[in-house]
Amino acid sequence: MADASRAIAEFGDKAKLYAGGAELLLLLRNGLLDAEVLVDLKKIERLHSVSFEIGLLRIGACVTHRELADHPLLRQHAPALAYAESKVANIRVRNQGTLGGNLAFNDPHSDPGTVLLVHDSTVVIGNDKGERRIGLDEFFADMYATALEASDLLLEIEVPRLPVGMTSAYQRLHRYQRPTLGVAAAVRLVHEKIAEARLAVGCVGPKAQRLAELEAKLAGVTLADSRKIIADEKKYLREILRPVDDLLGSAEYKLYMTGVMLGDALEEASQGSGS
Ligand SMILES: Cc1cc2nc3c(=O)[nH]c(=O)nc-3n(C[C@H](O)[C@H](O)[C@H](O)COP(=O)(O)OP(=O)(O)OC[C@H]3O[C@@H](n4cnc5c(N)ncnc54)[C@H](O)[C@@H]3O)c2cc1C
Repeated sequence: MADASRAIAEFGDKAKLYAGGAELLLLLRNGLLDAEVLVDLKKIERLHSVSFEIGLLRIGACVTHRELADHPLLRQHAPALAYAESKVANIRVRNQGTLGGNLAFNDPHSDPGTVLLVHDSTVVIGNDKGERRIGLDEFFADMYATALEASDLLLEIEVPRLPVGMTSAYQRLHRYQRPTLGVAAAVRLVHEKIAEARLAVGCVGPKAQRLAELEAKLAGVTLADSRKIIADEKKYLREILRPVDDLLGSAEYKLYMTGVMLGDALEEASQGSGS
């Protein structure tokens, strides 16, 4: 890990970190990026491990989407994440692309980050001087931008299990391979009312976002009433998600579907078997 960090520090802009290459090779091939040195992160053994201990799932940055979709620890402790991973692109990209590459690239039209936000996930970043942890919400700085600095590597993603009694779901809308909209929800019901809800939305604007203000407004209401509350929060959703028109859908369409799918995802989460 220290060698890789030193290599990118030494070669500067001429060097690029390389994991699955699903994005990087496309950028190089299309002349959008230039690199003389590729630093292959797949050689670092630690980045391939998946483990679970004391309520925390640890995923190495170089674990592929396909491995995660099928991994028994994910299916048991974070089923919505396993489902989101199974929906990424196509079998070729899932075989090649890694979770670390997906988060580090931070393309707005991505799946796993949205579910990871609902789990209050943290990322472990390292360089030749040491390691640090930051929340995923802070890691996602903006469209294609993260908190990674020049000689940093994304090492691990730490995914806490959801609180006892809380179950989750991920729903995705797509016309092409990349999603137009991704919605993650987790909910705990008590006597058919929402005791606690977590919501995150991806693909609508520059980056995936948790919806903390809306979550607070849903406490104590039924699932049916939650749909009305969500429908009335269009102004808040527009402000926080900053929807943009793009090839995958208009801003208005994405915003409308966000409201519909937040309600659907909460309902599906409430029927879940737990995560
Ligand atoms: C056709 C196509 C369809 C796709 N559809 C979807 C989709 O439906 N949903 C979705 O979520 N994603 C989708 N993707 C994105 C895909 O998930 C990512 O391409 C993949 O996960 C990137 O991982 P990688 O290991 O290949 O990264 P690479 O291409 O190797 O790297 C991508 C970028 O991240 C940097 N990087 C990689 N690993 C690290 C690390 N550990 N630390 C620091 N920097 C790092 C690289 O330097 C590079 O800048 C699609 C991609 C393609 C090409």
